[in-house]
Amino acid sequence: MKQISTTAEMQKEISRLKKEGKTIGFVPTMGYLHEGHLSLIDQSLEKSDVTVLSIFVNPLQFGAGEDFGSYPRDLERDKLLAEQQGVHLFFTPDQKEMYPQKMKTAVKVEEGSEVLCGASRPGHFDGVATVVMKLFQIVAPDTAFFGQKDAQQAAIIQNMIKDFHLSVKLAICPVIREEDGLAMSSRNVKLTEEERKEAPVIFYLLQQMVKQSQKESKVVRAEDAAKLFTRNISGELDYAEILTYPELEVPAPEHEGTLIAAAAVKYSAARLIDNIIWEQGKDETNV
Ligand code: AMP
Repeated sequence: MKQISTTAEMQKEISRLKKEGKTIGFVPTMGYLHEGHLSLIDQSLEKSDVTVLSIFVNPLQFGAGEDFGSYPRDLERDKLLAEQQGVHLFFTPDQKEMYPQKMKTAVKVEEGSEVLCGASRPGHFDGVATVVMKLFQIVAPDTAFFGQKDAQQAAIIQNMIKDFHLSVKLAICPVIREEDGLAMSSRNVKLTEEERKEAPVIFYLLQQMVKQSQKESKVVRAEDAAKLFTRNISGELDYAEILTYPELEVPAPEHEGTLIAAAAVKYSAARLIDNIIWEQGKDETNV
């Protein structure tokens, strides 16, 4: 595995590989790797000749008062895991490399960022889209691997690819969970013991929302989802609702088609998100 920390060296390396006819798979992350990230790497290794993993905690996507400073970081451990997993290029730019000047141009998300996480994190998805656009320019991947764990992010990036005629293909990979159902996240280490015990209930409640919607052939309303969550969690509910996917619009009660049940819960030092995507109106899928 080769570690590269500058954009110039990465671009040089990529153009050399492309001349050799190699396909590039790209897994962008903020590091503190867990099995969710490793599953994206595996997908990339399977589908591409060369896999690039980036680790960059992007300041642009954190709002004031959010956890940019305390976001878990351990580059040495990440390097070891990446190497064991078979990553070819380990890209670790610093802030000066990614933002050599105050940004005078940026990507602005026009649709899809006003709901779910976007509603409580203004500017977050502009920051995500901007850094992903930059990373796509640097790595020039054939395929980029994203997790369904951040389903709103994946939908927004898919729109950006279309809007800007980018030639990269997006592969969206399933949510990897702990044995008790909690979606893996770098932020899980910031939960207290009590919070960690409770947190799997988020996935359980999302499953209840899906099962009830399927059983009654009627989409559970946001008010009822919010009641269900606030009755069962000690953390502060940010949102729990069902929307169409990938459009992220409020569905009619009798809606048939792809839906997402998504929730975000704020614990003392970590805000957790999770979701389930399913086909409403088709045979009951096992959630
Ligand atoms: P992050 O480092 O949290 O920004 O995540 C980097 C990538 O890993 C994103 O595409 C995430 O959606 C994906 N990811 C994070 N957690 C999981 C998970 N539990 N299962 C699958 N993919 C994940």
